[in-house]
Amino acid sequence: MNINEVSLSSPIEEKIDWAEHCYKSFRGQLIQDKPIVDYLKRLVDAIQASHKEMGEAGILDICMDCEKNEGGSCCGAGLENKYDGWLLLINRLLDVRLPRKRHDKESCFFLGESGCLLKARHVICVNYLCKKITDRIDPDKLNALREKEGIELDILFLLNERLKRILRELIPSSDYLTWANV
Ligand code: SF4
Ligand code: SF4
Repeated sequence: MNINEVSLSSPIEEKIDWAEHCYKSFRGQLIQDKPIVDYLKRLVDAIQASHKEMGEAGILDICMDCEKNEGGSCCGAGLENKYDGWLLLINRLLDVRLPRKRHDKESCFFLGESGCLLKARHVICVNYLCKKITDRIDPDKLNALREKEGIELDILFLLNERLKRILRELIPSSDYLTWANV
């Protein structure tokens, strides 16, 4: 595979290769950039805050029970195609080991044995709450969660933009447009 030819519509395995290639080639320069380091740290904190809010609202217990007893149903095969190379690169920068193969053919490529393998997730995954949850959880708690998730997504957006800007400086402009269309 030519890494320059990977695009948003490429199979997830190719986007993962792109993210790994990018991580190996540019990690050193990326983690020298203070805004990137700050955003990564703020993102980790924001993800933890969202997760804590989910736990306190009782959502994690509902999901655990659903996965155990009803097989879950919200992380279906194909959802991985929403992810672009940049979001996968952010996960690599957060020390996530990206999977090489799908754990379950009916499920998203990123669903592992104990849940989602990613730390930085797509807005669709962050925002999704099924009816089972919206029917059972107090709306005030859901609003508090939405607030935390909003912070998480805002930081993710800023980090994404910063990464693109720094890599645009590192990669010759003639190559950048095709290379970065992932
Ligand atoms: S979000 Fe809904 S469908 Fe998905 S695991 Fe939780 S309870 Fe089950
Ligand atoms: S939460 Fe994770 S496993 Fe579920 S659909 Fe999103 S990326 Fe896939």
